[in-house]
Amino acid sequence: MVLIDFYERFPDEQACWNHFLSLRWPNGFICPSCSATKGCFKPSRKLFECYSCKHQASLTSGTLFHKTRIPLSKWFWFIFFMATSKKGVSMLYLQEQLRISTYRTVWSMGHKIRQGMIVRDALYDLHGLVEADEIFIGGKQTLAERRKSGNSKTPFFMAVQENDHGGPEFVTFEEIEGVYETQILPAIEKHIKKGSKIISDGEGSYVKSKEQGYDHDRYIESQDPEMAHEKRVYADSCGLILAFLGNGGRNAATIFSLR
Ligand SMILES: [Zn+2]
Repeated sequence: MVLIDFYERFPDEQACWNHFLSLRWPNGFICPSCSATKGCFKPSRKLFECYSCKHQASLTSGTLFHKTRIPLSKWFWFIFFMATSKKGVSMLYLQEQLRISTYRTVWSMGHKIRQGMIVRDALYDLHGLVEADEIFIGGKQTLAERRKSGNSKTPFFMAVQENDHGGPEFVTFEEIEGVYETQILPAIEKHIKKGSKIISDGEGSYVKSKEQGYDHDRYIESQDPEMAHEKRVYADSCGLILAFLGNGGRNAATIFSLR
């Protein structure tokens, strides 16, 4: 994506907001507190309110942009510059170009984004303990189109390599045509080194990976909701970056470092 494409796609704050909305809640609002799907939007405060539990959530709460005071459009530009500059971009330059008041702010923005990207090295295989799953990200339609068609989200194979402390270290995504064995098994072979231990929900394709030289263990539905939430946030922010890079193309794998 070059600068003019970016500008045409995200000309103002509203466009960025709509885009992030479609990534975060592709099928409409889901209450972060009770998971109910009915709510309303309060334009004056830019908050969503859940009809069931009255919880109020902003579009950004619990995401990479949690509690930010920086407009989304500046974040989008920031990510664009970081994602597209080949030699890396200086924080001072971004501070100046995006008129961000303090260096501290610009530094912390960079830090957060870096946590969600880097290492676009398709040669790197995940190894050791790897949690694998399918996730559904945004899709290429607008929110309105998606609501009309009902079907829409794009399936991705996602694998997360854990570090020594059980935290996520690297994550890889690949767009897949569907979530059946014929798509999942090749994705496993492509991204995960043989001999690794795959943790999954125990769905057939993953169990079958045992026949391909992997060790497999069933993932017990997370007893730690915070961990599950954290994974969701990673997926959201990585999904956003993917969307930016236009990297939804099949076979175009991207690895993000979560360190
Ligand atoms: Zn609720």
